[in-house]
Amino acid sequence: MSAKLIKGTEIREEILEEITKEVAEIKDKHGVVPGLVTILIGENPASMSYVTLKIKTAHRVGFTEVQDSQPEDISEADLLALIDKYNNDDSINGILVQLPLPKQVDEKKILNAIDPDKDVDGFHPVNVGRLMIGGDEVKFPPCTPAGIQEMIVRAGVETSGAEVVVVGRSNIVGKPIANMMLQKGPGANSTVTIVHTRTKDLAGHCQRADILIVAAGVPGLVKPEWIKPGSCVIDVGVNRIGMNEKTGKAILRGDVDFDAAKEIAGSITPVPGGVGPMTITMLMKNTLKSLKFKLGLA
Ligand code: NAP
Repeated sequence: MSAKLIKGTEIREEILEEITKEVAEIKDKHGVVPGLVTILIGENPASMSYVTLKIKTAHRVGFTEVQDSQPEDISEADLLALIDKYNNDDSINGILVQLPLPKQVDEKKILNAIDPDKDVDGFHPVNVGRLMIGGDEVKFPPCTPAGIQEMIVRAGVETSGAEVVVVGRSNIVGKPIANMMLQKGPGANSTVTIVHTRTKDLAGHCQRADILIVAAGVPGLVKPEWIKPGSCVIDVGVNRIGMNEKTGKAILRGDVDFDAAKEIAGSITPVPGGVGPMTITMLMKNTLKSLKFKLGLA
């Protein structure tokens, strides 16, 4: 039997509609809309295309979007001053610095300079701490893990008491999603295991998973026999495995052997069109939340 497809492209549309509606209501009642600034350093083509998509999405949901492009040779002091300016700008609710940053700039110093209450990427240590504590403390869950949790919930997958196995322990995906799934509360309450390159029996752990979340960056790492029949499989991996000569576009594969896995799992995310579209969507949700916190609506 073929698994139910959990499509990020469809869930994105649902969430963006909800955000657009809420933005319009807040504008009506309070006369303000969320403000997001995207700071882009230099002309890295991948960064430029990510930022373009963020700007387009921000406009679509009715935000004020400030695009601040800076030269590749910007000094660390000048970038810190720029962040300070937006930290103190009342019309800005979210500050996004597009990574990677040039060599002369200390990435950690820059990200830590963002006001935690405008850190809509959720990477500031204060927000990482808030996420760890959980419950009402959480302000801005990092966008990709937040998107993963949202997909699991909207697909109607039971998380309470579920065995969740997370492959990968990065700070942007593995560790935060593991932490989110073990919290006390809706969409969580799971029993969580994190596995990585030093794990002894990777297959054995995966086979126990009611919800298997894979963020390793290794195409086809998860074999069909590692998947528990009927489980939910979330494939975060985005791997370029070649180029389509006709379209000139990259051929993308996930970390899971999708064709075989979909015959065993109960539900599964495709690559592309699965987790990918959720990240920018959750960035919009966090920026809206930031304004709501400021207005006392959240
Ligand atoms: P990362 O920082 O490279 O971390 C990869 C993790 O996977 C590490 O913890 C690593 O273990 C583990 N790992 C790698 N190979 C493994 C193996 N053979 N067996 C077991 N564990 C293994 O990667 P990331 O930033 O989390 O990203 C992971 C994947 O998700 C990438 O393909 C990335 O492109 C994708 N991604 C997608 C989105 C999106 O769709 N929006 C967002 C973020 C990332 P060690 O710690 O032991 O090295």
